[in-house]
Amino acid sequence: MPHRARPRTRWITAAGAAFVAVAALAGAAHAGPARAAAPTPRAQHVEYFPGPDAEPRQVTVPAGAPARSARPGSPGTGKPPYTEPAVRALQRTGPVSGRLDLVVMGDGYTADEQDEFAADAEEKLDAIFEVEPYRSYRGLFNVWLVDTVSPDSGVSGDPTADVVKDTALHSAFFCDDIERLLCVDTDAVARYARLAPDADIVFVVANSAKYGGAGYSTADLPPASPFHGVATMSSDNDRSYLIGAHELGHSIGGLADEYQYAGQGAYPGTEEPAAANLTLHRDPDAAKWSRWAGAQDPTGSVVGTYEGGGYYETGVYRPTDTSLMRTLASTEFNVVGREAMIAGFYADADALTSRVPTTEPVRGNRLITVRLAPVTGLADLRLTWSVDGREVPWAAGLRTVTPHVLGVRGHGREHRITATVTDRTAAVREPAVRARTVNSLTWTVR
Ligand SMILES: [Zn+2]
Repeated sequence: MPHRARPRTRWITAAGAAFVAVAALAGAAHAGPARAAAPTPRAQHVEYFPGPDAEPRQVTVPAGAPARSARPGSPGTGKPPYTEPAVRALQRTGPVSGRLDLVVMGDGYTADEQDEFAADAEEKLDAIFEVEPYRSYRGLFNVWLVDTVSPDSGVSGDPTADVVKDTALHSAFFCDDIERLLCVDTDAVARYARLAPDADIVFVVANSAKYGGAGYSTADLPPASPFHGVATMSSDNDRSYLIGAHELGHSIGGLADEYQYAGQGAYPGTEEPAAANLTLHRDPDAAKWSRWAGAQDPTGSVVGTYEGGGYYETGVYRPTDTSLMRTLASTEFNVVGREAMIAGFYADADALTSRVPTTEPVRGNRLITVRLAPVTGLADLRLTWSVDGREVPWAAGLRTVTPHVLGVRGHGREHRITATVTDRTAAVREPAVRARTVNSLTWTVR
């Protein structure tokens, strides 16, 4: 099993449980806006994007449904309760235990517009998965579509602040009076996310051509949310996919924002920031990304220390002049960001899976087949086999073995055979990150 950086709870583990959740959700819809338990009112920090080429901003908004959206079943809407949403796999590359499960749900799509939602979701995902390292590591993701059905087509606040739509997730532009801030009811998102087999990350695609989106960080999501982050983005704006790409930088890579605010001044602390892409060291050779110092970067810079980041102007440094974590005018992560993303992928996903259970002993003639995740490009997987901890060099790369083929002879003694996959990608230079790319499975032979 991989090292898991973040604790996570599985809400749904079986089809039966999913059915119960659907029934509960349908019941909740009949009861109008009532929830199983009233959540404690709280504030949520969200990040928004003033324009396609602008630097993002952070604001705090009240939690729950955006104020301008209509509530389901609220007096006067006269709308029928929502129908049960369907869940389908857009991409399934492996078991949920070995994959990052990305759940995509639409808002402001009526029952007749579900095909349009699927097409919009696919287009958005294809664009995100063109950005490295998502492109190379797409094979570590499962993607689930949840067909949330809204009474109204389109979302609140589009095109103007006074427009109110009745939608499943209560998406609304002009959240907190900010036109481009597309808020969503994260409690509703959490309820729908339970319908998917697993949810590590949630994207909400709002049926709108208006530019906008938002990113909710883990700390501000409803308690016990199984996912690390929620990003919203509009469906028909061809730059809004970068909002999703940026937000996954936070939720998967643990990356900090590399932008700063005018007037924010000097970084207040003396302790090195936790994120991989900020440092207090001006000397690139002392920075946490010193292994990349001087490297030519896909963003166009040479990796060094560039002052300003994490919202502060001075006393803190970022690895490159620009990047996707600094402005959406850039469509690339820098190499430091890529490395952190790859670490994040492997925190939740395994490149190595097998249907042969490791929990029971196998016999000497048992065929053991392993599968490698279909990663490409930057990824460079190497599969090796060992017996009782000793590598069997000639067996490297074999997808199917038997203990006998590897030289194991029973005679009552117990042996262990291990398959190990290491990603030797050149996009990783940090030994601790390399160690995280190692996945292995061990069987006991009797
Ligand atoms: Zn951000």
